[in-house]
Amino acid sequence: MKNSLFLFTLFSLVMFSCKTQKVTTKPTIVIKKGLSEPEKRGYWQQRVKYKINADLDTLKNQYQGKIQLTYFNNSKDTLTKAYFHLYWNAFQPGSAMDWRNRTLEDPDRNLDKLIKNLKPDEIGFHHINSFLQNGQKLDYKIVGTIMEVNLNQPIYPGDSTIFHLDYLTQIPKLLRRSGRDNTEGIEYSMAQWYPQICEYDLQGWHTDPYIGREFYNVWGDFDVKLKVPANYTVAASGYLQNPEEIGKNYPTNKPLNIPKNGKLTWHFYAPNVHDFVWAADPDYIHDIAKTSDGIELHFFYQNKPQTIENWTKLKPFAIKTMEFYNEYIGKYPYKKYNIIQAGDGGMEYAMGTFVLGDKKFNSLRGTVQHEMGHAWFQFALATNEAQYPWMDEGFTSYIQDMANLIVNGNKGADLFQSSYNSYRYLVHQGKDEPLSTHSDHYTTNLAYWIGAYDKGKMVLTQLSYIMGGKKLRQTLQEYYAQWKMKHPQPDDFFKIAQKISGMDLRIFKNDWIETTHHIDYAVDKVSAEGQKTKIKLKRLDEMGMPLDIFVQDTAGNLYYYYIPLDLLRNTKENPFPNMTQNMLPVWKWAVPQYEFTIDIPLKKIDFITIDPFGYMADINPENNVYKRNENKK
Ligand SMILES: [Zn+2]
Repeated sequence: MKNSLFLFTLFSLVMFSCKTQKVTTKPTIVIKKGLSEPEKRGYWQQRVKYKINADLDTLKNQYQGKIQLTYFNNSKDTLTKAYFHLYWNAFQPGSAMDWRNRTLEDPDRNLDKLIKNLKPDEIGFHHINSFLQNGQKLDYKIVGTIMEVNLNQPIYPGDSTIFHLDYLTQIPKLLRRSGRDNTEGIEYSMAQWYPQICEYDLQGWHTDPYIGREFYNVWGDFDVKLKVPANYTVAASGYLQNPEEIGKNYPTNKPLNIPKNGKLTWHFYAPNVHDFVWAADPDYIHDIAKTSDGIELHFFYQNKPQTIENWTKLKPFAIKTMEFYNEYIGKYPYKKYNIIQAGDGGMEYAMGTFVLGDKKFNSLRGTVQHEMGHAWFQFALATNEAQYPWMDEGFTSYIQDMANLIVNGNKGADLFQSSYNSYRYLVHQGKDEPLSTHSDHYTTNLAYWIGAYDKGKMVLTQLSYIMGGKKLRQTLQEYYAQWKMKHPQPDDFFKIAQKISGMDLRIFKNDWIETTHHIDYAVDKVSAEGQKTKIKLKRLDEMGMPLDIFVQDTAGNLYYYYIPLDLLRNTKENPFPNMTQNMLPVWKWAVPQYEFTIDIPLKKIDFITIDPFGYMADINPENNVYKRNENKK
């Protein structure tokens, strides 16, 4: 398979946008606007209003915190308990994160050593000094990173309650995602930094102990005041409310007035988000750039020559990527996005990302494009990352590949192909696990990484193959339009894909997400039938797929045949507009073999190939081909 041909076809499959068809209606019929998908399923979600005050002590690496949390119970259940995350308790020797990492078959050796050896002034903790509900003291129990609370007053459906927390937090040495003093010298990477109420949804409370992977939080508004020494620059979710008191490249025309205690209070407000993150460092350079729709991109990075050079180069790509995703999926819902040098690697947060910043340009650009994609698949479409990592990592990786092609113009890139290779490697190693596995419960790091990112991305490449690229893109746009600022479930996505494709995709979802069934089709036998040729195909594994088949004759003419699959109850549009789609009879999935005859004599056939561009995740693509010369041998 030629990469360039593959790329061209894939490009044409995924890029052509769909126009909505005009429906002509008789004038007597009144068209009522239908219910949205969330309304149809009686969807609800909890809501929070956080007011957080934090006073940072940079000598002790601790902060004093005060939280006023108003919690709205929009469920139909009466809540008598509540649960809170105390994430930084994980950064202690003997924690669940320490043990989980130590006992995996393929642990992160570095992390393993580091947690075990944390000294008392390097561990993380949240000490609760006082905890009240509607002014009354609460009983609570802390197990690792989860605080369980018996409520004094139940929260009835439709009711709200107010919690007050007064606490002291020690900021751990950064080992994973957040903490102090990262490897590039950023002093404070403040993610997972405050006691945070767990999400309660149709499945109940989500009380996953933190072992270093993914998150799922409650939608709401955050009003946050951060008291920080005046020489630090703060990067944070939300909009700065007092730029005139801050400066630091925020618009101000007043001279700065630094209080006697030497600290400035940064006041941020983040409406309709499900987390709040910040970082602080004395050496940050802070730049602002704008997209054509007026979204402000804020860049925070270290004052080092190489870093400045790379981050300057990054800006136009960041702008174009934001514009590309906006156009490809739907409008980014905020007016600001932060790209912050902080944390370890790259991680998506509210209205921005933490990334390592001192790396090579292509790697920096790729990470930023990936994390920015999460503003759609995880932030706005706030799926439970821990439970369905494929819905955020997989979908984000898919649009990151698209950005690499379209924004970076990287035509030589192996669009999606490295994921197919990684997936096949995992399968042939016997380490494939169902995509429905909770991200903390994959038995190997390898299966998690390849599962969530590659096999997760291939949910979309397989759907693109099954229903066509145009319909897939329409599905992504409709999914975003219906489910942004909510917590969609896998079925919510598939329901839209089914509606748009007119296909029954339940068995595909079951096979690809909930089992480790695989795809393996083969050309079994090719034989002459007078002036015609009989082609026998076989299905060697459990999963059924519709088949695209190309036949080339010795004169170089290409013919395209399509075999629909009975399970799908529909066919796809011709994905190769320059060729005729020769529609063959339906292949009934339960039958393991299939035969058809074509009007080309065997001696004139050069090759026959199933899925010539390698879109289908066939685990043994080498048996998909018949070649004339090989037959002669
Ligand atoms: Zn990601």
